[in-house]
Amino acid sequence: MTVSDHKESVSQGVEAQYRQALDQGRFLIQHCGGCDRAVFYPRMICPHCGADKLSFTPADGRGEVYSTTVVRRKPEAGGDYNVALIDLQEGVRLMSRVEGVAPADVRIGMAVRARVVQQDGHGLVVFDPCQEAT
Ligand SMILES: [Zn+2]
Repeated sequence: MTVSDHKESVSQGVEAQYRQALDQGRFLIQHCGGCDRAVFYPRMICPHCGADKLSFTPADGRGEVYSTTVVRRKPEAGGDYNVALIDLQEGVRLMSRVEGVAPADVRIGMAVRARVVQQDGHGLVVFDPCQEAT
């Protein structure tokens, strides 16, 4: 087993940990003990400072829409849906979707909150508009 094989299997382990938590309904992001910043998508080495002191913590869940797109789909295939980039309160960005409003009504800057749904047997993070939004 080479060093790169080892790295590969370890990083798959981090992703597996993330996915297992999602399957159990928990949304985790990594936190770096070296530079005190949040890290997403899960990885072995902090992209900010290069430290390998990453640990999983529950995400706060609050975020804001950074960009939004409506993906057109035939009604018989489930209808249009939303794809959005969400900036989490922790300072990381992820691709997800906003539910609970019409796909075209999702706005940049909209306050949203994460929710884990189970789809095809796996946990998935989606966002709902945040009611306390001003
Ligand atoms: Zn760091």
